Amino acid sequence: MPASYDVVVIGAGTGGYVAAIRAAQLGKKVAVVEKQKSLGGTCLIWGCIPTKALLEHAHALKIVQNADEWGIAIPYGAPAIDMRQVHARKDKIVTGLTKGIEFLFKKNKIDWIKGTAALAGKGRVDIVEGEKQALQAAEIIVATGSSPRGVPGIEIDRKRIITSDEAIHLQEVPKSLVILGSGAVGVEFASIFRRFGSEVTIIELLPRLVPIEDEAVSAELEKAFKRQGIRSLTNTKVTRAVATATGVDIEAQGPDGKPQKLAADILLVATGRGPVTTGLGAETLGIAMEKGFIKVDSLYRTSVAGVSAIGDVIAIDGRVHPQLAHVSSAEGILVAERLAGKDVRPLNYDHVPGCTYCDPEIGSVGLTEAAAKKQGYDVRVGTFPFGVLGRAKMAGETDGFVKIVADTKYDEVLGVHMIGPRSTELVGEAVLALRLECTVEELVKTIHAHPTFSEAIGEASHAAHGAAIHM
Ligand SMILES: Cc1cc2nc3c(=O)[nH]c(=O)nc-3n(C[C@H](O)[C@H](O)[C@H](O)COP(=O)(O)OP(=O)(O)OC[C@H]3O[C@@H](n4cnc5c(N)ncnc54)[C@H](O)[C@@H]3O)c2cc1C
Repeated sequence: MPASYDVVVIGAGTGGYVAAIRAAQLGKKVAVVEKQKSLGGTCLIWGCIPTKALLEHAHALKIVQNADEWGIAIPYGAPAIDMRQVHARKDKIVTGLTKGIEFLFKKNKIDWIKGTAALAGKGRVDIVEGEKQALQAAEIIVATGSSPRGVPGIEIDRKRIITSDEAIHLQEVPKSLVILGSGAVGVEFASIFRRFGSEVTIIELLPRLVPIEDEAVSAELEKAFKRQGIRSLTNTKVTRAVATATGVDIEAQGPDGKPQKLAADILLVATGRGPVTTGLGAETLGIAMEKGFIKVDSLYRTSVAGVSAIGDVIAIDGRVHPQLAHVSSAEGILVAERLAGKDVRPLNYDHVPGCTYCDPEIGSVGLTEAAAKKQGYDVRVGTFPFGVLGRAKMAGETDGFVKIVADTKYDEVLGVHMIGPRSTELVGEAVLALRLECTVEELVKTIHAHPTFSEAIGEASHAAHGAAIHM
Protein backbone atom coordinates (compact mmCIF):
# COMPACT_ATOMS: atom_id res chain seq x y z
CA MET A 1 0.00 0.00 0.00
CA PRO A 2 1.47 3.39 -0.95
CA ALA A 3 1.82 5.90 1.90
CA SER A 4 -1.14 8.25 1.75
CA TYR A 5 -1.11 12.03 2.29
CA ASP A 6 -3.52 14.96 2.02
CA VAL A 7 -0.81 16.95 0.23
CA VAL A 8 2.41 15.88 -1.48
CA VAL A 9 4.74 18.72 -2.43
CA ILE A 10 7.44 18.12 -5.04
CA GLY A 11 10.43 20.35 -4.34
CA ALA A 12 11.54 21.96 -1.08
CA GLY A 13 12.53 25.41 -2.34
CA THR A 14 11.02 28.60 -0.92
CA GLY A 15 7.79 27.77 -2.75
CA GLY A 16 7.48 24.12 -1.75
CA TYR A 17 8.69 24.18 1.83
CA VAL A 18 6.56 27.21 2.74
CA ALA A 19 3.47 25.62 1.11
CA ALA A 20 4.12 22.44 3.11
CA ILE A 21 4.41 24.27 6.43
CA ARG A 22 1.24 26.30 5.83
CA ALA A 23 -0.70 23.17 4.77
CA ALA A 24 0.48 21.32 7.89
CA GLN A 25 -0.44 24.30 10.09
CA LEU A 26 -3.95 24.04 8.62
CA GLY A 27 -4.23 20.40 9.64
CA LYS A 28 -3.13 18.59 6.48
CA LYS A 29 -0.96 15.48 6.47
CA VAL A 30 1.95 16.54 4.30
CA ALA A 31 4.99 15.00 2.61
CA VAL A 32 7.67 16.87 0.67
CA VAL A 33 9.84 15.12 -1.90
CA GLU A 34 13.24 16.75 -2.37
CA LYS A 35 16.12 15.34 -4.37
CA GLN A 36 18.90 17.54 -2.93
CA LYS A 37 20.76 16.57 0.23
CA SER A 38 19.38 19.61 2.02
CA LEU A 39 16.14 21.57 2.08
CA GLY A 40 15.64 25.13 0.84
CA GLY A 41 16.15 24.84 -2.94
CA THR A 42 17.85 27.43 -5.11
CA CYS A 43 17.38 30.28 -2.64
CA LEU A 44 19.21 28.60 0.22
CA ILE A 45 21.73 26.45 -1.64
CA TRP A 46 22.86 28.55 -4.65
CA GLY A 47 20.81 31.76 -4.69
CA CYS A 48 19.57 34.44 -2.32
CA ILE A 49 21.36 33.36 0.83
CA PRO A 50 24.89 32.50 -0.37
CA THR A 51 25.03 35.46 -2.80
CA LYS A 52 23.95 37.93 -0.16
CA ALA A 53 26.43 36.41 2.26
CA LEU A 54 29.20 37.09 -0.30
CA LEU A 55 27.86 40.63 -0.78
CA GLU A 56 28.11 41.21 2.99
CA HIS A 57 31.76 40.10 2.77
CA ALA A 58 32.26 42.54 -0.11
CA HIS A 59 30.72 45.30 2.02
CA ALA A 60 32.97 44.43 4.97
CA LEU A 61 35.99 44.60 2.66
CA LYS A 62 34.83 47.99 1.37
CA ILE A 63 34.79 49.38 4.91
CA VAL A 64 38.23 47.96 5.66
CA GLN A 65 39.64 49.24 2.36
CA ASN A 66 38.54 52.70 3.45
CA ALA A 67 39.97 52.22 6.94
CA ASP A 68 41.77 55.59 6.93
CA GLU A 69 38.50 57.43 6.38
CA TRP A 70 36.88 55.49 9.23
CA GLY A 71 39.81 56.11 11.56
CA ILE A 72 40.68 52.43 11.79
CA ALA A 73 44.37 51.63 11.86
CA ILE A 74 45.41 48.51 9.95
CA PRO A 75 49.00 47.84 10.90
CA TYR A 76 50.00 45.08 8.47
CA GLY A 77 49.57 46.38 4.91
CA ALA A 78 46.61 46.38 2.56
CA PRO A 79 43.55 44.32 3.50
CA ALA A 80 42.81 41.29 1.30
CA ILE A 81 40.00 38.81 1.00
CA ASP A 82 40.51 35.29 2.36
CA MET A 83 38.23 33.12 0.21
CA ARG A 84 38.62 30.10 2.48
CA GLN A 85 37.10 32.01 5.40
CA VAL A 86 34.51 33.67 3.13
CA HIS A 87 33.22 30.26 2.02
CA ALA A 88 33.42 28.82 5.53
CA ARG A 89 31.26 31.64 6.91
CA LYS A 90 28.81 31.50 3.96
CA ASP A 91 28.47 27.70 4.27
CA LYS A 92 27.84 27.98 8.00
CA ILE A 93 25.00 30.44 7.35
CA VAL A 94 23.50 28.20 4.63
CA THR A 95 23.75 25.06 6.78
CA GLY A 96 22.16 26.82 9.74
CA LEU A 97 19.20 27.90 7.62
CA THR A 98 18.68 24.54 5.85
CA LYS A 99 18.80 22.76 9.22
CA GLY A 100 16.24 25.32 10.38
CA ILE A 101 13.81 24.08 7.71
CA GLU A 102 14.44 20.48 8.79
CA PHE A 103 13.49 21.56 12.32
CA LEU A 104 10.31 23.25 11.04
CA PHE A 105 9.37 20.06 9.14
CA LYS A 106 9.73 18.02 12.31
CA LYS A 107 7.80 20.61 14.32
CA ASN A 108 4.94 20.52 11.81
CA LYS A 109 5.10 16.69 11.36
CA ILE A 110 5.96 16.97 7.66
CA ASP A 111 7.64 13.91 6.11
CA TRP A 112 10.71 14.67 3.99
CA ILE A 113 10.97 11.95 1.34
CA LYS A 114 14.52 12.02 -0.04
CA GLY A 115 14.52 11.42 -3.77
CA THR A 116 13.33 12.46 -7.21
CA ALA A 117 9.59 12.51 -7.80
CA ALA A 118 7.55 11.88 -10.92
CA LEU A 119 3.83 12.39 -11.47
CA ALA A 120 2.46 8.89 -12.06
CA GLY A 121 -1.28 9.25 -12.55
CA LYS A 122 -4.22 10.69 -10.69
CA GLY A 123 -3.21 11.36 -7.09
CA ARG A 124 0.00 9.37 -7.42
CA VAL A 125 3.62 10.40 -7.07
CA ASP A 126 6.41 7.90 -7.66
CA ILE A 127 9.86 8.36 -6.15
CA VAL A 128 11.99 7.22 -9.05
CA GLU A 129 15.42 7.87 -7.52
CA GLY A 130 16.45 7.81 -3.87
CA GLU A 131 13.92 6.39 -1.39
CA LYS A 132 11.98 4.58 -4.15
CA GLN A 133 8.29 4.21 -3.34
CA ALA A 134 4.84 5.28 -4.44
CA LEU A 135 2.84 7.97 -2.64
CA GLN A 136 -0.89 8.56 -2.72
CA ALA A 137 -1.96 12.21 -2.53
CA ALA A 138 -5.33 13.91 -2.43
CA GLU A 139 -3.56 17.02 -3.74
CA ILE A 140 -0.16 17.50 -5.36
CA ILE A 141 1.79 20.76 -5.44
CA VAL A 142 4.59 20.93 -8.02
CA ALA A 143 7.34 23.34 -6.90
CA THR A 144 10.31 22.06 -8.86
CA GLY A 145 11.77 25.51 -9.53
CA SER A 146 14.28 26.58 -12.11
CA SER A 147 17.88 26.13 -13.20
CA PRO A 148 20.30 28.40 -15.10
CA ARG A 149 19.55 28.80 -18.79
CA GLY A 150 22.36 28.93 -21.32
CA VAL A 151 22.74 30.88 -24.53
CA PRO A 152 22.56 29.09 -27.89
CA GLY A 153 26.06 28.52 -29.26
CA ILE A 154 27.87 28.96 -25.94
CA GLU A 155 28.88 25.73 -24.28
CA ILE A 156 28.87 25.94 -20.51
CA ASP A 157 31.78 23.76 -19.35
CA ARG A 158 31.28 24.75 -15.67
CA LYS A 159 35.01 25.52 -15.31
CA ARG A 160 35.78 28.50 -17.53
CA ILE A 161 32.28 29.22 -18.80
CA ILE A 162 30.07 29.00 -15.77
CA THR A 163 26.62 29.77 -14.35
CA SER A 164 25.69 31.23 -10.98
CA ASP A 165 25.69 27.67 -9.56
CA GLU A 166 29.47 27.53 -10.05
CA ALA A 167 30.15 31.23 -9.41
CA ILE A 168 28.92 30.87 -5.85
CA HIS A 169 31.60 28.23 -5.20
CA LEU A 170 34.62 29.91 -6.88
CA GLN A 171 37.50 29.22 -4.52
CA GLU A 172 39.77 31.82 -6.08
CA VAL A 173 39.05 35.36 -7.16
CA PRO A 174 39.43 35.39 -10.97
CA LYS A 175 41.81 38.01 -12.30
CA SER A 176 39.26 38.89 -14.95
CA LEU A 177 35.57 38.11 -15.15
CA VAL A 178 33.14 38.77 -17.98
CA ILE A 179 29.47 38.55 -17.07
CA LEU A 180 26.86 37.95 -19.72
CA GLY A 181 23.55 39.49 -18.66
CA SER A 182 22.85 42.45 -16.37
CA GLY A 183 19.79 41.22 -14.51
CA ALA A 184 19.90 40.85 -10.73
CA VAL A 185 22.20 37.81 -10.77
CA GLY A 186 24.68 39.42 -13.19
CA VAL A 187 25.03 42.75 -11.41
CA GLU A 188 25.23 41.14 -7.96
CA PHE A 189 28.18 38.95 -9.01
CA ALA A 190 29.73 42.01 -10.69
CA SER A 191 29.64 43.84 -7.35
CA ILE A 192 30.98 40.86 -5.41
CA PHE A 193 33.95 40.08 -7.63
CA ARG A 194 34.88 43.68 -8.42
CA ARG A 195 35.16 44.36 -4.71
CA PHE A 196 37.13 41.12 -4.24
CA GLY A 197 39.61 42.40 -6.84
CA SER A 198 38.58 41.04 -10.29
CA GLU A 199 38.58 43.10 -13.46
CA VAL A 200 34.86 42.92 -14.30
CA THR A 201 33.11 43.53 -17.62
CA ILE A 202 29.35 43.16 -17.88
CA ILE A 203 27.76 42.61 -21.29
CA GLU A 204 24.09 43.38 -21.87
CA LEU A 205 22.15 42.88 -25.08
CA LEU A 206 19.61 45.60 -24.25
CA PRO A 207 20.44 49.33 -24.16
CA ARG A 208 20.82 49.55 -20.37
CA LEU A 209 21.81 47.64 -17.23
CA VAL A 210 19.03 46.11 -15.08
CA PRO A 211 16.62 46.63 -17.98
CA ILE A 212 13.44 45.95 -16.01
CA GLU A 213 14.14 48.81 -13.60
CA ASP A 214 13.23 52.48 -14.06
CA GLU A 215 15.55 54.11 -16.63
CA ALA A 216 16.93 56.55 -14.05
CA VAL A 217 17.95 53.62 -11.83
CA SER A 218 19.77 51.93 -14.72
CA ALA A 219 21.65 55.15 -15.52
CA GLU A 220 22.65 55.62 -11.86
CA LEU A 221 23.91 52.04 -11.59
CA GLU A 222 25.98 52.38 -14.75
CA LYS A 223 27.57 55.58 -13.35
CA ALA A 224 28.30 53.91 -9.98
CA PHE A 225 29.74 50.83 -11.69
CA LYS A 226 31.99 53.05 -13.82
CA ARG A 227 33.31 54.78 -10.70
CA GLN A 228 34.03 51.36 -9.19
CA GLY A 229 35.88 50.23 -12.32
CA ILE A 230 33.21 47.86 -13.65
CA ARG A 231 33.01 48.10 -17.42
CA SER A 232 29.48 47.98 -18.87
CA LEU A 233 28.97 47.06 -22.52
CA THR A 234 25.31 47.62 -23.33
CA ASN A 235 23.62 47.10 -26.70
CA THR A 236 26.21 44.36 -27.13
CA LYS A 237 25.72 40.80 -28.26
CA VAL A 238 28.13 37.97 -27.52
CA THR A 239 28.47 36.04 -30.77
CA ARG A 240 30.99 33.42 -29.69
CA ALA A 241 32.70 32.23 -26.53
CA VAL A 242 35.23 29.44 -26.37
CA ALA A 243 36.93 28.04 -23.29
CA THR A 244 40.68 27.59 -23.61
CA ALA A 245 43.21 26.00 -21.27
CA THR A 246 43.76 29.29 -19.47
CA GLY A 247 40.58 31.28 -19.93
CA VAL A 248 37.81 32.23 -22.34
CA ASP A 249 37.98 33.91 -25.73
CA ILE A 250 34.88 35.99 -26.36
CA GLU A 251 33.63 37.70 -29.49
CA ALA A 252 30.94 40.33 -29.29
CA GLN A 253 29.19 42.83 -31.49
CA GLY A 254 28.65 46.32 -30.09
CA PRO A 255 26.11 49.02 -30.98
CA ASP A 256 28.21 50.10 -33.98
CA GLY A 257 27.98 46.56 -35.41
CA LYS A 258 31.74 46.12 -35.32
CA PRO A 259 33.07 42.84 -33.94
CA GLN A 260 35.21 43.07 -30.81
CA LYS A 261 37.29 40.51 -28.96
CA LEU A 262 37.54 40.08 -25.21
CA ALA A 263 39.46 37.64 -23.08
CA ALA A 264 38.79 36.66 -19.48
CA ASP A 265 39.70 34.04 -16.91
CA ILE A 266 36.02 33.25 -16.43
CA LEU A 267 32.80 33.93 -18.35
CA LEU A 268 29.70 33.91 -16.16
CA VAL A 269 26.51 33.32 -18.15
CA ALA A 270 23.68 35.02 -16.24
CA THR A 271 20.97 35.21 -18.86
CA GLY A 272 18.02 33.84 -16.95
CA ARG A 273 16.57 30.60 -15.65
CA GLY A 274 14.40 27.94 -17.23
CA PRO A 275 11.85 25.60 -15.62
CA VAL A 276 12.84 22.23 -14.09
CA THR A 277 10.39 19.65 -15.43
CA THR A 278 12.61 16.98 -17.01
CA GLY A 279 11.46 13.52 -15.95
CA LEU A 280 8.56 14.96 -13.96
CA GLY A 281 5.94 13.47 -16.28
CA ALA A 282 3.85 16.66 -16.41
CA GLU A 283 3.07 16.39 -20.13
CA THR A 284 2.32 12.65 -19.84
CA LEU A 285 -0.28 13.47 -17.20
CA GLY A 286 -1.81 15.95 -19.65
CA ILE A 287 -0.76 19.15 -17.84
CA ALA A 288 -0.86 22.15 -20.18
CA MET A 289 2.55 23.79 -20.60
CA GLU A 290 3.73 27.17 -21.91
CA LYS A 291 7.26 27.33 -23.35
CA GLY A 292 8.30 24.56 -20.96
CA PHE A 293 6.74 26.19 -17.89
CA ILE A 294 3.69 24.69 -16.17
CA LYS A 295 0.64 26.75 -17.02
CA VAL A 296 -1.54 27.73 -14.05
CA ASP A 297 -4.56 29.93 -13.40
CA SER A 298 -4.59 32.80 -10.90
CA LEU A 299 -5.05 30.35 -7.99
CA TYR A 300 -2.22 28.06 -9.26
CA ARG A 301 -4.43 25.24 -10.55
CA THR A 302 -2.91 23.37 -13.49
CA SER A 303 -5.10 21.99 -16.25
CA VAL A 304 -5.27 18.65 -14.34
CA ALA A 305 -7.55 18.47 -11.27
CA GLY A 306 -5.68 17.78 -8.04
CA VAL A 307 -2.37 19.18 -9.30
CA SER A 308 -1.27 22.72 -8.47
CA ALA A 309 2.04 24.40 -9.30
CA ILE A 310 3.89 27.37 -7.82
CA GLY A 311 7.19 29.24 -7.96
CA ASP A 312 9.81 29.51 -10.66
CA VAL A 313 8.38 26.58 -12.66
CA ILE A 314 5.07 28.28 -13.55
CA ALA A 315 3.68 30.50 -16.28
CA ILE A 316 0.67 32.53 -15.19
CA ASP A 317 -1.81 34.72 -17.06
CA GLY A 318 0.47 35.01 -20.09
CA ARG A 319 2.64 37.62 -18.31
CA VAL A 320 6.27 37.43 -17.20
CA HIS A 321 6.20 35.61 -13.89
CA PRO A 322 8.74 37.01 -11.40
CA GLN A 323 11.23 34.30 -10.39
CA LEU A 324 11.70 35.45 -6.81
CA ALA A 325 11.83 33.61 -3.51
CA HIS A 326 9.22 35.80 -1.81
CA VAL A 327 6.85 35.36 -4.77
CA SER A 328 7.14 31.56 -4.62
CA SER A 329 6.49 31.62 -0.86
CA ALA A 330 3.43 33.87 -1.23
CA GLU A 331 2.09 31.49 -3.90
CA GLY A 332 2.80 28.51 -1.64
CA ILE A 333 0.83 30.01 1.24
CA LEU A 334 -2.07 30.86 -1.07
CA VAL A 335 -2.27 27.33 -2.51
CA ALA A 336 -2.09 25.70 0.93
CA GLU A 337 -4.91 27.93 2.14
CA ARG A 338 -7.00 27.17 -0.95
CA LEU A 339 -6.51 23.44 -0.43
CA ALA A 340 -7.60 23.87 3.20
CA GLY A 341 -10.85 25.47 2.02
CA LYS A 342 -9.99 29.06 2.93
CA ASP A 343 -11.29 32.01 0.94
CA VAL A 344 -8.29 33.13 -1.12
CA ARG A 345 -7.80 35.96 -3.59
CA PRO A 346 -5.25 36.12 -6.43
CA LEU A 347 -1.95 37.83 -5.66
CA ASN A 348 -1.36 41.28 -7.09
CA TYR A 349 1.84 40.96 -9.11
CA ASP A 350 1.99 44.75 -9.51
CA HIS A 351 2.90 44.93 -5.83
CA VAL A 352 5.86 42.54 -5.87
CA PRO A 353 9.03 44.19 -4.54
CA GLY A 354 12.11 43.75 -6.68
CA CYS A 355 15.38 43.80 -4.78
CA THR A 356 18.83 43.72 -6.35
CA TYR A 357 21.69 43.62 -3.87
CA CYS A 358 24.44 45.07 -6.04
CA ASP A 359 26.42 48.10 -4.82
CA PRO A 360 24.50 50.43 -4.70
CA GLU A 361 21.41 48.36 -3.90
CA ILE A 362 18.16 48.63 -5.85
CA GLY A 363 14.66 48.35 -4.43
CA SER A 364 11.58 48.93 -6.53
CA VAL A 365 7.88 48.30 -6.69
CA GLY A 366 5.08 49.28 -9.05
CA LEU A 367 5.12 51.16 -12.32
CA THR A 368 8.26 52.80 -13.68
CA GLU A 369 7.87 56.36 -14.98
CA ALA A 370 7.88 55.08 -18.57
CA ALA A 371 5.34 52.32 -17.86
CA ALA A 372 3.02 54.74 -16.05
CA LYS A 373 3.13 57.15 -19.02
CA LYS A 374 2.52 54.27 -21.41
CA GLN A 375 -0.58 53.34 -19.41
CA GLY A 376 -1.91 56.86 -19.96
CA TYR A 377 -1.36 58.35 -16.50
CA ASP A 378 -0.62 62.04 -16.12
CA VAL A 379 2.59 61.31 -14.25
CA ARG A 380 4.14 63.32 -11.45
CA VAL A 381 7.61 62.42 -10.19
CA GLY A 382 9.52 63.26 -7.01
CA THR A 383 13.20 62.41 -6.60
CA PHE A 384 15.49 62.84 -3.62
CA PRO A 385 19.21 62.00 -3.62
CA PHE A 386 20.80 60.05 -0.75
CA GLY A 387 23.83 62.35 -1.13
CA VAL A 388 22.28 65.13 0.96
CA LEU A 389 20.97 62.85 3.71
CA GLY A 390 22.79 62.97 7.05
CA ARG A 391 22.46 59.25 7.72
CA ALA A 392 23.83 58.37 4.27
CA LYS A 393 26.83 60.65 4.83
CA MET A 394 27.53 58.94 8.17
CA ALA A 395 27.46 55.54 6.46
CA GLY A 396 29.66 56.79 3.63
CA GLU A 397 26.98 55.58 1.19
CA THR A 398 25.87 58.63 -0.74
CA ASP A 399 25.21 57.26 -4.25
CA GLY A 400 21.65 57.03 -5.53
CA PHE A 401 18.17 58.38 -4.92
CA VAL A 402 14.54 57.58 -4.18
CA LYS A 403 12.10 58.29 -7.00
CA ILE A 404 8.34 58.32 -6.53
CA VAL A 405 6.09 57.95 -9.55
CA ALA A 406 2.55 59.21 -8.91
CA ASP A 407 -0.67 59.97 -10.73
CA THR A 408 -1.29 63.74 -10.84
CA LYS A 409 -5.07 63.42 -10.99
CA TYR A 410 -5.70 61.37 -7.82
CA ASP A 411 -2.21 61.77 -6.26
CA GLU A 412 -1.95 57.96 -6.02
CA VAL A 413 1.52 56.45 -5.66
CA LEU A 414 2.03 54.24 -8.72
CA GLY A 415 5.62 53.15 -8.21
CA VAL A 416 8.68 53.74 -6.05
CA HIS A 417 12.17 53.16 -7.41
CA MET A 418 15.30 53.52 -5.38
CA ILE A 419 18.96 52.90 -5.77
CA GLY A 420 21.28 53.51 -2.86
CA PRO A 421 22.01 52.40 0.71
CA ARG A 422 19.48 50.03 2.35
CA SER A 423 17.12 50.30 -0.66
CA THR A 424 16.25 46.61 -0.36
CA GLU A 425 14.98 47.32 3.16
CA LEU A 426 13.40 50.72 2.44
CA VAL A 427 11.28 49.25 -0.35
CA GLY A 428 9.08 47.63 2.35
CA GLU A 429 7.46 50.99 3.09
CA ALA A 430 6.84 51.51 -0.62
CA VAL A 431 5.22 48.07 -1.00
CA LEU A 432 2.82 48.89 1.83
CA ALA A 433 2.09 52.29 0.28
CA LEU A 434 1.05 50.63 -2.98
CA ARG A 435 -0.88 47.87 -1.21
CA LEU A 436 -2.88 50.47 0.72
CA GLU A 437 -3.34 52.60 -2.43
CA CYS A 438 -1.62 55.52 -0.67
CA THR A 439 -1.55 59.01 -2.03
CA VAL A 440 1.64 61.04 -2.10
CA GLU A 441 -0.04 63.30 0.48
CA GLU A 442 -0.23 60.35 2.90
CA LEU A 443 3.49 59.69 2.45
CA VAL A 444 4.18 63.40 3.02
CA LYS A 445 2.16 63.27 6.26
CA THR A 446 3.92 60.11 7.44
CA ILE A 447 6.63 61.08 9.94
CA HIS A 448 9.98 59.58 9.01
CA ALA A 449 12.46 59.25 11.88
CA HIS A 450 15.64 61.31 11.88
CA PRO A 451 18.39 60.53 11.09
CA THR A 452 17.42 57.53 8.95
CA PHE A 453 17.70 56.43 5.34
CA SER A 454 13.90 56.34 5.25
CA GLU A 455 13.85 60.14 5.28
CA ALA A 456 14.70 59.88 1.58
CA ILE A 457 11.21 58.45 0.99
CA GLY A 458 9.58 61.27 2.93
CA GLU A 459 11.67 63.85 1.08
CA ALA A 460 10.95 62.27 -2.32
CA SER A 461 7.23 62.49 -1.58
CA HIS A 462 7.65 66.18 -0.65
CA ALA A 463 9.54 66.58 -3.94
CA ALA A 464 6.63 64.99 -5.83
CA HIS A 465 4.54 67.86 -4.46
CA GLY A 466 7.20 70.28 -5.58
CA ALA A 467 8.65 71.06 -2.14
CA ALA A 468 11.48 68.89 -0.81
CA ILE A 469 12.76 70.43 2.42
CA HIS A 470 16.47 69.63 2.17
CA MET A 471 17.01 70.33 -1.49
C1 LIG B 1 22.21 33.52 -7.80
C2 LIG B 1 20.76 33.72 -7.44
C3 LIG B 1 20.41 34.70 -6.54
C4 LIG B 1 19.08 34.89 -6.20
N1 LIG B 1 18.78 35.87 -5.31
C5 LIG B 1 17.49 36.08 -4.99
C6 LIG B 1 17.16 37.07 -4.03
O1 LIG B 1 18.02 37.75 -3.48
N2 LIG B 1 15.85 37.25 -3.72
C7 LIG B 1 14.86 36.51 -4.31
O2 LIG B 1 13.69 36.73 -4.01
N3 LIG B 1 15.15 35.56 -5.22
C8 LIG B 1 16.44 35.32 -5.56
N4 LIG B 1 16.75 34.33 -6.44
C9 LIG B 1 15.65 33.55 -7.04
C10 LIG B 1 15.12 32.50 -6.05
O3 LIG B 1 16.20 31.71 -5.61
C11 LIG B 1 14.05 31.65 -6.72
O4 LIG B 1 13.06 32.49 -7.24
C12 LIG B 1 13.40 30.69 -5.73
O5 LIG B 1 14.37 29.85 -5.18
C13 LIG B 1 12.30 29.87 -6.41
O6 LIG B 1 11.78 28.96 -5.50
P1 LIG B 1 11.04 27.64 -5.99
O7 LIG B 1 10.56 26.99 -4.74
O8 LIG B 1 10.08 27.93 -7.05
O9 LIG B 1 12.17 26.74 -6.69
P2 LIG B 1 13.61 26.27 -6.23
O10 LIG B 1 14.13 27.08 -5.13
O11 LIG B 1 14.40 26.14 -7.46
O12 LIG B 1 13.34 24.83 -5.59
C14 LIG B 1 12.95 23.73 -6.35
C15 LIG B 1 13.35 22.48 -5.61
O13 LIG B 1 12.76 21.36 -6.25
C16 LIG B 1 13.67 20.29 -6.26
N5 LIG B 1 13.28 19.40 -7.35
C17 LIG B 1 13.19 19.70 -8.66
N6 LIG B 1 12.69 18.65 -9.36
C18 LIG B 1 12.44 17.68 -8.44
C19 LIG B 1 11.91 16.37 -8.53
N7 LIG B 1 11.48 15.86 -9.69
N8 LIG B 1 11.83 15.65 -7.40
C20 LIG B 1 12.24 16.15 -6.20
N9 LIG B 1 12.73 17.38 -6.05
C21 LIG B 1 12.83 18.15 -7.16
C22 LIG B 1 15.01 20.98 -6.48
O14 LIG B 1 16.07 20.15 -6.04
C23 LIG B 1 14.86 22.24 -5.65
O15 LIG B 1 15.32 22.04 -4.33
C24 LIG B 1 18.07 34.08 -6.79
C25 LIG B 1 18.42 33.07 -7.67
C26 LIG B 1 19.75 32.88 -8.00
C27 LIG B 1 20.11 31.79 -8.96
